[in-house]
Amino acid sequence: MKLIFLGAPGAGKGTQAEIVSEKLSIPAISTGNIIRAALKEQTEMGIKAKDYIEKGLLVPDDVVIGIIKERLAQDDCKNGFILDGFPRTVPQAEALDEMGVEIDKVIDIEVADEKIVARMSGRRVCGNCGASYHLLYKKPEKEGVCNSCGSQLVQRADDKEETVLERLNIYHDQTEPLIEYYRSKGKLCVVEGQEEVADTTALTLKTLED
Ligand code: ADP
Ligand code: ZN
Repeated sequence: MKLIFLGAPGAGKGTQAEIVSEKLSIPAISTGNIIRAALKEQTEMGIKAKDYIEKGLLVPDDVVIGIIKERLAQDDCKNGFILDGFPRTVPQAEALDEMGVEIDKVIDIEVADEKIVARMSGRRVCGNCGASYHLLYKKPEKEGVCNSCGSQLVQRADDKEETVLERLNIYHDQTEPLIEYYRSKGKLCVVEGQEEVADTTALTLKTLED
């Protein structure tokens, strides 16, 4: 199955993508995670992306399209994949179409803006391996420590409130048009984001069965 997870920053699409990825045994591909890893390793791409990501702006289309082309060419994508955070603009969606990628379903996780701002303040990420957590919705086993690698959890610089508001504006402006884009192709499935992660997962899995 080839899936796209759409949604505002902080709507929980990354968390859902990871859960569904395990259930279906297909990789979840997060462009945000790939870019943050490149930033940490200071690769050429990471250096290019630094200013954008820190200000909450979108990284230029050609950069992320390049990332996705490379990633989808890898062996583990043969039986399907979940795209988490790509496409985020209409040109990115068109590039995916031009690559001949046939998407089965687009899961749009909807959460109201007011809730997003509150949720983002609780987000934490592992400073070492990039695993994501939430103080309320996805607690680590041990406070402040990553379950997978034991490193310390930190808040992402772009999860500060002013940056979150900027990211939300960009989402409405540049990413939301993708809802119509995929609805008109008959691929859109809307999932109302719930308070509890497991409740959202139940709704997500149900739309995948239909
Ligand atoms: P969130 O979890 O808040 O949705 P991500 O981790 O997906 O955020 O992305 C974080 C940042 O990485 C974005 O604000 C943007 O700067 C960059 N980024 C990730 N995916 C894309 C994309 N498809 N196009 C442009 N920029 C992207
Ligand atoms: Zn970790």
